[in-house]
Amino acid sequence: MINSYAASESGGKLEPYEYDAGPLAANDVEINVEHCGLCHSDLSMLNNEWGMTEYPFVPGHEVIGTISAKGAEVESLNVGQRVGLGWHSGYCLSCHQCMEGDHNLCTKAAGTVIGRHGGFADKVRAQAASVVPLPDGIDPVSAGPLFCGGITVFNPLVQFNVAPTSKVAVIGIGGLGHIALQFLRAWGCEVTAFTSTEAKKDEALSLGAHHTINSTDKNQLDLAANSFDLVISTVNVKLNWNRYIGTLKSKGRLHFVGATLEPLDISVFPLISSQRSISGSPVGSPAVIAKMLEFAKQHNIKPVVEQFRFDQVNEAIAHLESGKARYRVVLSR
Ligand code: NAP
Ligand code: ZN
Repeated sequence: MINSYAASESGGKLEPYEYDAGPLAANDVEINVEHCGLCHSDLSMLNNEWGMTEYPFVPGHEVIGTISAKGAEVESLNVGQRVGLGWHSGYCLSCHQCMEGDHNLCTKAAGTVIGRHGGFADKVRAQAASVVPLPDGIDPVSAGPLFCGGITVFNPLVQFNVAPTSKVAVIGIGGLGHIALQFLRAWGCEVTAFTSTEAKKDEALSLGAHHTINSTDKNQLDLAANSFDLVISTVNVKLNWNRYIGTLKSKGRLHFVGATLEPLDISVFPLISSQRSISGSPVGSPAVIAKMLEFAKQHNIKPVVEQFRFDQVNEAIAHLESGKARYRVVLSR
């Protein structure tokens, strides 16, 4: 039996919930969960904001733990090994995207908290291919958030071959944004943090930003016109996207990883006249996750976390909801 924390309805409190996961599939592993980050996507799923939540709902997709059991055909991982599990817990492994190494774009990819139970539990299961070993020397307490928040902001740097000479801005300095600042600084870029929280300005500078701009101040946005090669949005709210497009240099890109639900209202001429792009991406493949972990180790990049016990899960969720998290909540045993 697996002991987890589940909500029985949209927005409901999490309660202890025991379930029988059945026999372990041949290509799956079972992980003894030590730590699990709380991503804003868990909150959106809890509240069924994306219309795909099944209840009882067990959140948690930033898992660090050790392999407790492995299926008969698993050769890549060993019992006792410390690993991480992120947003995806399985891939078809045979579609064009998987064969190209873009597992995160597999249309049949399984979500760790979609139609299955996530990591707010003593154990969680996943296909071995979706589980990535944690390199020695990476702090397990703070590593969980790398597996969703971290990879989501690292992957665009790989996908778009971001140059160290690039000027890159991050909108929203939360769970994703605070890791993005660290990656971009180590990547060699000139880094700007767009934040709506005055108190985060100094912290953004210490996390790696060279400059900060108030993300909701139109005058400051206008002063930053034609400045950036890449702007990464991690917010889930509607901002004045046309003003943000104005901050891009020619051939610049506004890239969405934050799940803004309201449709974008974007004027096309600023895109045409300066050959600017708009794009989005989900997390990253297991190979890019492994690459990210090596990069994080090399450059001593660590998510800044606030630890709660698993039985404090409802307080942890309320803390994230309050906007006061600095910068990622992690549940620990
Ligand atoms: P988070 O920790 O709550 O951070 C979001 C940040 O957005 C906040 O810290 C805040 O930064 C900013 N923000 C919030 N409300 C705002 C407002 N009204 N105006 C301006 N800025 C505001 O969330 P997260 O865990 O980083 O997740 C961010 C988004 O990414 C969510 O939508 C999540 O679902 C999504 N996500 C996507 C992927 C993917 O694969 N694409 C993966 C993980 C998460 P400031 O205080 O600095 O303004
Ligand atoms: Zn996430």
